[in-house]
Amino acid sequence: MKELKSYGWYAARISPLLPEEAFKPVPTRLWGGLAYLLITVAGFLIIGLIEPPLWVSLIISVIVGLCFAGLGLLGHEILHGTVVRKAWLRDFLGAIAFWPLTTGPQLWRNWHNMNHHIYTQDEHRDPDAWLSKEQLAKYPLLIVLYKLPLWVRATISFVSLSFSFTLHSARMFFRSLKNFHSNKKPKVWIQFILPWATWISLLFFMGPVKWLLAFLIPLFIGNFIVMSYISTNHRLNPLVTVNDPLANSLTVTVPKWVDFLHFNFSYHTEHHLFPGISPKYYPLVKQHILNMWPERYHQMPLVNAMIALLKTPRIYYEETELVDPNHHHLYGTLGHGLDLDQYKYRVEGEAYLPTGTDIKQRDS
Ligand SMILES: [Zn+2]
Ligand SMILES: [Zn+2]
Repeated sequence: MKELKSYGWYAARISPLLPEEAFKPVPTRLWGGLAYLLITVAGFLIIGLIEPPLWVSLIISVIVGLCFAGLGLLGHEILHGTVVRKAWLRDFLGAIAFWPLTTGPQLWRNWHNMNHHIYTQDEHRDPDAWLSKEQLAKYPLLIVLYKLPLWVRATISFVSLSFSFTLHSARMFFRSLKNFHSNKKPKVWIQFILPWATWISLLFFMGPVKWLLAFLIPLFIGNFIVMSYISTNHRLNPLVTVNDPLANSLTVTVPKWVDFLHFNFSYHTEHHLFPGISPKYYPLVKQHILNMWPERYHQMPLVNAMIALLKTPRIYYEETELVDPNHHHLYGTLGHGLDLDQYKYRVEGEAYLPTGTDIKQRDS
């Protein structure tokens, strides 16, 4: 197994090769956010006041959903401080960008910047890491879920992408409250309540049908898009004891126009190496990683990563494998034998044989 290195170790080797401007904030990223915001408001006004035919409203609904996702992805960037440096402005803009997905800036910075980034794929400390087999006993609902046939489980996982960001965010709010000093708590509460108050008020203002079209369907679409990235960022990688982004993160590839619309969010390994520089420079960081450590780096098309997620279980077995807890089938993770062609597995307690009839393939 390759020796794990910290993100600082990689960053120290790449930093000298990056241009000076890569370390400066890039406020021009806000133009994209402004465009998304204006389209969203226009969508609300058209659905709310003009009342177009249903099919037109549905198209607008999808467009607003794309804007919700774009705003959320920009919100992530803003709250890393790579767009503007002033703390109050960063939080204000971040709050607006995350308003549709109902996540407050204080909560996000605590959950994402100070925990997910610092303890990535640490079994106990990363709030976004999936469970190990030892932790599974605490989640009886998951045990039931794993008793279902693969296709049912995969369908549930796929559909859940359309709400799991907002759900996980609400869960993180209640879990993270204890991390805030008592004088900060009111602010965190207000940032949680205000977006929800806005959207619930809109329901009474517009009525349920228009609200469904203007907010709820876009919320599902926005969740689905951001979750297709978030779910593939680390979940095919092993749990680690050293926060090594090349081992614990995956960069997905998407067409260039998608990267344009999504502010280069696909470059997740690069992001974990340099969360403090604008994603505008991540293609350059990627080139340097590929020059220096091509054998350690993981990348694949987003669609392939999503298929791999649906075909493998999400419970970790001794950090580097994924286990189906009922059938005791063990699948590799990235860098540890994940088989993306045939999804071969070994049975718990048996040695893995790379070829021959001892290898069983998933039968469901
Ligand atoms: Zn991450
Ligand atoms: Zn981040």
